[in-house]
Amino acid sequence: MDKENIFEKRESAPKADYVAATGVPLKKPSDVIPQKLLRAQLPLPNLGELDVVRHYSHLAQLNFSVDTHFYPLGSCTMKYNPKINESMARLEGFSAIHPYQSQDAIQGALELIYDFEQLLCEVTGMKRFTFQPSSGAQGELAGMLMIRKYHEIKKRKKTKVIIPDSAHGTNPATASMCGYQTIVIESDSGGLVDIDKLKKVVDDEVAAIMLTNPNTLGLFEERILEIKDIIHNKGGLLYYDGANLNPLLGITKPSLMGFDVIHLNLHKTFSTPHGCGGPGAGAVGVGEILEDFLPVPVVNKKNKSYYFDYAIKRSIGRLKSFYGNFTVLVRAYTYLLRLGKEGLLQTAHNAVINANYIKEKLKDYYEVPYPKTCMHEVVFSCTSQKEKGAAALDIAKRLIDYGIHPPTMYFPLIVKEALMVEPTETESKDTLDYFIKVMKEIDKEIDNDLEKVKDAPHTTPVKRVDEVKAARSPNLKWERTGV
Ligand SMILES: *Cc1c(COP(=O)(O)O)cnc(C)c1O
Repeated sequence: MDKENIFEKRESAPKADYVAATGVPLKKPSDVIPQKLLRAQLPLPNLGELDVVRHYSHLAQLNFSVDTHFYPLGSCTMKYNPKINESMARLEGFSAIHPYQSQDAIQGALELIYDFEQLLCEVTGMKRFTFQPSSGAQGELAGMLMIRKYHEIKKRKKTKVIIPDSAHGTNPATASMCGYQTIVIESDSGGLVDIDKLKKVVDDEVAAIMLTNPNTLGLFEERILEIKDIIHNKGGLLYYDGANLNPLLGITKPSLMGFDVIHLNLHKTFSTPHGCGGPGAGAVGVGEILEDFLPVPVVNKKNKSYYFDYAIKRSIGRLKSFYGNFTVLVRAYTYLLRLGKEGLLQTAHNAVINANYIKEKLKDYYEVPYPKTCMHEVVFSCTSQKEKGAAALDIAKRLIDYGIHPPTMYFPLIVKEALMVEPTETESKDTLDYFIKVMKEIDKEIDNDLEKVKDAPHTTPVKRVDEVKAARSPNLKWERTGV
């Protein structure tokens, strides 16, 4: 495998400046750029096209992706991204428009946004949506800013947000970004919100509760209607973290559970690609009481034409330049239309049955601390493997050698040595069976060949990186002596 980086290759490679001169008289950079801003040298790689293609193709082969490997990353829904979504997003009418074009010229795009909003309202029971946030976390921020403004206008003193200890880390982060104190409530022995503890901490200063349902243990909060009453009775609102709505699609709706504002990750539930904080969309839906607070603009329709509407009375303002990641919406819209009602329901069924299949097949090998029927994901605890010398981390790393992406590790925090597995609905039984076989095999290896597991992965160019050091003292500067 290619181990040099592209800068190191530069020296020995043939020169590649074979682009013909343009005939346009050239100005020297020093004629137009102040001296102090000019670089003395710019050591860019200078390689032939074939070398560049091979370099990047080799790098791409080092990658793990849903298109190449099983990717059971809990709480992340790494489901297959259907290729028809890509074809639709690449249609020129969508991909070649510009945000500064007049609204008359982009009626089709606006219609798609409008229609997609109607569909999501039907799926979730919410009244309206905004598609501006580009991630789940930004969706949470939008939702909590609306909640904050709602209480401010009502002149209620609200200081706290309640969050279960199984929650996704972005929930408390969002609450504190909005200036709230986070009150954590412990889960009960079954892994659900402890209602008695909840009653004790709820008072008039509670602004909201942020809930994931199913929660991050993969369990459905069965007493959600009681929770709703407890919070609403004190004038608080219910925030729904619907990053992974797949197990409930077509079965129930957040509105029926009493949620006032929700976010959905289109890049999880609705099959659009994930990307590091970039090309996602955290669609935020609101019930009637928060409709006036949505970010501007929303897309409305008048006399058969669609337009950006900025006249939202109490809007929290704009969250993103232009209108979010538009082509992500095209992909998610395609996904919804292609599945239809029946397909959505099938999606939910398959998400749940796949996770439960894995749970049942592996529960005698890896402890399942919350053994109830799960929804789309199952959390194992590798404590007995840890006692024999292999931690959840070692098992996760060993999976790489078998061509499987590690599951989410050490999350949720309430499960020791957690491995959180979300197979997703798009995997075949063969793939699930392969995963099950490999997990059993690794369990056996821990008994017979512990070092092999502890020293994994064996098949990658880099074994284990020091993640703490990489985060604490990142080396972001490329330096090379002699240049
Ligand atoms: C992924 C996820 C988020 C955050 O979404 P991002 O798009 O990564 O910001 C929030 N909550 C839950 C439950 C999630 O799974």
